[in-house]
Amino acid sequence: MDPLKALADAERKPYWLDSTAKPEPLPRLLDDTTAGLAVVGGGFSGLWTALMAKERDPSLDVVLLEGRRVGWAASGRNGGFAMATLTHGIANGLERWPEEIAALERLGVDNLDEIGEAVERYGIDCGYRRTGELHVATEPWQLEEMNRHVEIVREMGARVDVLDTEQVRAEVNSPTYIGGQWERDGCAMIDPARLAWGLRQACLSLGVRVYERTPVRAMKDTPTSMDLITPHGTVRARAVALGTGVFQPLLRRLRHFLVPVYDYALVTEPLSAGQLASVGWHNRQGVGDAANQFHYYRLTDDDRILWGGYDAVYYNGGMIKPEYEQRDETFVKLAEHFATTFPQLDGVRFTHRWGGVIDTCSRFSAFYGRSHGGRVAYAAGYTGMGVGATRFGANVMLDLLAGERTERTELRMVKEKPVPFPPEPVRSAGIQMTRWSIAQADLHEGRRNLWLRTLDRMGLGFDS
Ligand SMILES: Cc1cc2nc3c(=O)[nH]c(=O)nc-3n(C[C@H](O)[C@H](O)[C@H](O)COP(=O)(O)OP(=O)(O)OC[C@H]3O[C@@H](n4cnc5c(N)ncnc54)[C@H](O)[C@@H]3O)c2cc1C
Repeated sequence: MDPLKALADAERKPYWLDSTAKPEPLPRLLDDTTAGLAVVGGGFSGLWTALMAKERDPSLDVVLLEGRRVGWAASGRNGGFAMATLTHGIANGLERWPEEIAALERLGVDNLDEIGEAVERYGIDCGYRRTGELHVATEPWQLEEMNRHVEIVREMGARVDVLDTEQVRAEVNSPTYIGGQWERDGCAMIDPARLAWGLRQACLSLGVRVYERTPVRAMKDTPTSMDLITPHGTVRARAVALGTGVFQPLLRRLRHFLVPVYDYALVTEPLSAGQLASVGWHNRQGVGDAANQFHYYRLTDDDRILWGGYDAVYYNGGMIKPEYEQRDETFVKLAEHFATTFPQLDGVRFTHRWGGVIDTCSRFSAFYGRSHGGRVAYAAGYTGMGVGATRFGANVMLDLLAGERTERTELRMVKEKPVPFPPEPVRSAGIQMTRWSIAQADLHEGRRNLWLRTLDRMGLGFDS
């Protein structure tokens, strides 16, 4: 396959957002108003927070403020793997919170079950399928690494099938696979944009006032309210939940913990019946390979393949810019890797290419907290695995604002903060050194160099 030819007609926009299901914009906030709870951010984090606030207390007056359009950012342009894990995978959780891992896994599965129930309850047409995830190995060291935790995962009640070469290729047919695992319940596939738009509709149906194209420029506390200043009006709120992801935080303290990392994806044209048959994929699982620089891929409802990952790019200085959403060097690399994985699909063309920004923190899984005497709560740092976990984070924010002690708020994972990143320019130098070392580890059978081992010992890292 010639990657340039395969990419030649690919539009430079996220596939999911390029949809006839995209709703009309909601109005801007044009006046001053009051609210019991004001939620900032119309990604999954903010949407679940607003929705569940109303479910908890239908009489609460809830306002959601989104700077652009609901779901335009990471939430509407991701791979659509809604994962049960709250800790960016069990290995990371086990390393950091071994005494809590059983509870964290259980809470994660409950959270994913409840996402499925909410999708059903509100009639959200987002292609939700609880397919599980197929982890594939293309090299022996990946297989060893993958099988290291299988017993622990099973002890926690997860259904995991260990697959040999023949079995894994019978699921998805690639000559590069040498083995794999099918984690049956830990993942659901969704269309992320349609989930975000469906949650928007569910919020409206419960009486949440949603304002789009309404950026919050500043947050001020007064003796009686938290004031959110927007271009044309101020919201005076009793409580505020921040679901602002990686964007310029309204709380300065969050800056130390978050870095913007760009992740990129391609989508093919719909496969013909013959092309699909050549790949198999009857169970339509999400697939991820086990390299440090990993690919994630899946089928869409209309039998395209979404193919993403591998490069996780931090632009020195940590800026967020629209032009970073396109990176031809990465798109060519992704197209080449696709051709190696599925040589039988020679000639298939890509229709969409895009990137998006991820809220990476040094522990790879979200952190939570309160400020302003408990009137403000935040959750951020999902590090590329927030499609499912943002709903858990939304519940944590609501618990914290209610001042309730719950199983969630008592978790060490919830109480602790990640190690902050150093300031620039040390930050950029450290991250680029880490990216280089991760690529080297993949070239040398997963062996981690001194730099990575030192970071591991400090509980620091970089991932997407
Ligand atoms: C290419 C890509 C692939 C990914 N794949 C997966 C995957 O398959 N599975 C998975 O679990 N995760 C994946 N992720 C990560 C996942 O998308 C995120 O973790 C999740 O969507 C985060 O949701 P969020 O609501 O916290 O942030 P966002 O979706 O970024 O939403 C934040 C919102 O807040 C708004 N906002 C910010 N500041 C303000 C302000 N001051 N005023 C008003 N509004 C404001 C923004 O406009 C934005 O809409 C992927 C991410 C990318 C980019």
